[in-house]
Amino acid sequence: VYGSLSTAQDDLILEMQKPSRPYIELSRQIPFGENDGLNRLSEKRDDPVFVAALRIDPSARTLIFVGDIPLLRQTDSGINPWFRLNEAEAVGTFRELALLGKTGEGPRFAALLDETIAVTEGEPDPNAMIDKRNRAIPARPDLLLTDLRSIALAGTLRPSWIAMQAQAKSLLFWHASHRFCSNCGLPSIVASAGWRRDCPSCKRMHFPRTDPVVIMLAVDGDRCLMGRSHRFGKGMYSALAGFLEPGETIEEAVRREISEESGILTSEVTYLASQPWPFPASLMIGCLATAVTTEIKIDPSELEDCRWFTREEVLQMLSGTHSEGFLAPQKVAIAHHLLKAWSQL
Ligand SMILES: [Zn+2]
Repeated sequence: VYGSLSTAQDDLILEMQKPSRPYIELSRQIPFGENDGLNRLSEKRDDPVFVAALRIDPSARTLIFVGDIPLLRQTDSGINPWFRLNEAEAVGTFRELALLGKTGEGPRFAALLDETIAVTEGEPDPNAMIDKRNRAIPARPDLLLTDLRSIALAGTLRPSWIAMQAQAKSLLFWHASHRFCSNCGLPSIVASAGWRRDCPSCKRMHFPRTDPVVIMLAVDGDRCLMGRSHRFGKGMYSALAGFLEPGETIEEAVRREISEESGILTSEVTYLASQPWPFPASLMIGCLATAVTTEIKIDPSELEDCRWFTREEVLQMLSGTHSEGFLAPQKVAIAHHLLKAWSQL
């Protein structure tokens, strides 16, 4: 068929697939989504010879997770999350090894090590909400255990590395929590280079799970709706959000969540951007929704407060200059980017 096409027709086909305007994909500018240059090689995962060859490639490197905490190493040129596979095996026995894909620098893997190889320093604080004690690998002062949220907030690693850490964290979490077949209850085994678990007993195949979450701004002309939950820091307001339910479209979930949490009714829903959110395995789906009512009635079990903010206020909150000290989420959160995009519309 293609042989019969003239050069002019080929040019037309190429032309048809070009974006009609300069286009920058917002999702690619948000932390955990900036995964440029990774080829996931998904069509090759079931070829064990190919995967084994990647594993022994001299340029192969792996991320290490100890439980759900990334392991980093201190090098002369700074902090680095990548290990040669033999270096990683020297740290501890792999519970799982998954193929992330291949970058221009070589094959990239993710290894899960048992959290018992780390020791926690000090006594637990019974009043602390989060266990902030230091964890370390005994006799390895060159290795650091730092949670992924802190790594993303610090922004010192390459964005594409942080995106691959997010990919690895969600995938390894799934392995750690799906060791048994959900159909028959017997142990399952890893397959497809870490992208499937098979049950040898009942033959059921299980695939890694991603939980979709809608996160959105209801918009009334020059104002948008934000709320604050009881656990937010002082002055912080953010976009409303909630899990998408089975049988629901994104649009329905957006309208339902806004209505449940704030009492505001909305009509049209527009998609803006998405973000993989590896705590533990969500996809945030960022939207705008046109408000058709304006009177707020909050659900006090979900929110402490909810209010309308003007564009001007949102710009001040993003830059930390709001006169009443109100704040917007940091750049690591998709809410920050939704607010920024809306304020520039
Ligand atoms: Zn089974």
